[in-house]
Amino acid sequence: MQIAIIGAGVSGLLSALELIQQGCSVTIFDQQHAGKAASWAGGGILSPMYPWRYPAAVNQLAQYGKALYQEYNERLFPVTKIDFQIQHTGMLIFDPEDFAIGQSYAQRHQEPMQYAELLQGQQLHHINPQISEQFQQALFFPHLSNIRNPRVLQSLIVYLKQQPQVKFVEHCAIRKLHIQNQKVTAVHTENGEKFAADQVVLATGAWSQAWAEPLDLNIPVKPVHGQMALFKTPENWLPTMCMNKVMYLIPRRDGHIVCGSSMNDFGFDNTPKADIQQNIVDAVLEMVPALAQFSLVDQWAGLRPSSPNGVPYIGQIPEVDNLWANFGHFRNGLCMGPAAARLLRQLMLKQSTLVDPTAYSPERLLHPEMV
Ligand SMILES: Cc1cc2nc3c(=O)[nH]c(=O)nc-3n(C[C@H](O)[C@H](O)[C@H](O)COP(=O)(O)OP(=O)(O)OC[C@H]3O[C@@H](n4cnc5c(N)ncnc54)[C@H](O)[C@@H]3O)c2cc1C
Repeated sequence: MQIAIIGAGVSGLLSALELIQQGCSVTIFDQQHAGKAASWAGGGILSPMYPWRYPAAVNQLAQYGKALYQEYNERLFPVTKIDFQIQHTGMLIFDPEDFAIGQSYAQRHQEPMQYAELLQGQQLHHINPQISEQFQQALFFPHLSNIRNPRVLQSLIVYLKQQPQVKFVEHCAIRKLHIQNQKVTAVHTENGEKFAADQVVLATGAWSQAWAEPLDLNIPVKPVHGQMALFKTPENWLPTMCMNKVMYLIPRRDGHIVCGSSMNDFGFDNTPKADIQQNIVDAVLEMVPALAQFSLVDQWAGLRPSSPNGVPYIGQIPEVDNLWANFGHFRNGLCMGPAAARLLRQLMLKQSTLVDPTAYSPERLLHPEMV
């Protein structure tokens, strides 16, 4: 079976990996370099921030993230020699209004990743000595991890490019689908080239609304600008991830600390803004004042593919038998990525599914009130 995947972010690349393992051949198209959009820009926290603020459908896919990335890393590393650098740092949350609800969420779900304990005073500063003295309480999630997402993408691309049944077509936007008798028969590039396919996957992230008009659907997926700042500290300087008022610090293995983030509607403009950077720096220095002694080494922004409630669209596009969606993951596309790709593969190949697919159904795109 020949499958065209449009979009080489984490959603498209993991879909490709899942499908080739089942004997399919894939051609992956991207309008830019593969793996350089939101999936590169993101933080790589392997859980929704404040999981209790998200629908169960988001948490349900996210809970598979850590185990599946570990599985993929073990399989890909011997070939690519690129480690995903999964960091088991745990996460401290300082928002007092979330302490009780976070603990009761952890108790209700009994899911190891969401196990949480409330730390006080010395206990807190023992676990993370860099935390400001103004914080004397925090909710600690010891089992939360992060991936170094640019490395995950690099590894996926290197691995996939070595497989004979995979072809990459980069710097090539797909602008048209040729549909006949409720079936896509080919995809058309912006240069008028045509590629035939048995099945087509739309993994087009923040750009997915472009399919609304040709498919006569309501696709409420829009780009949401999210900015990051990067500090460089010595290795192991910051022992845990930290979060306060939706701002966070994510320590990487080599001492880099990724700090974010913001949410703004700037359309498809993904340039970083000076005032946003200042807000991020102020927020993270409030949590970790000693970070001020280290250099800010980079900043960037990416476009999250927002969807109402953050529940992605995964499954067959209504009224087109061989057209599939895997888009709209909003703030959680990295942690949901592996389970989303597995669910898509299982639906495409008519296999039993790891979760009930109903909540993710693209049937919602037919009915604006069901988004
Ligand atoms: C600042 C920030 C922080 C984040 N932090 C986290 C986090 O900690 N944890 C988490 O789980 N998630 C996080 N996210 C969200 C996560 O990054 C996204 O949900 C996820 O990367 C979406 O992946 P994707 O593959 O669907 O989209 P993308 O990575 O954007 O990939 C879509 C690709 O499709 C291509 N494309 C689009 N249209 C076409 C076309 N017509 N033809 C050809 N190619 C096309 C694009 O060029 C792009 O490469 C964050 C995002 C941002 C911006």
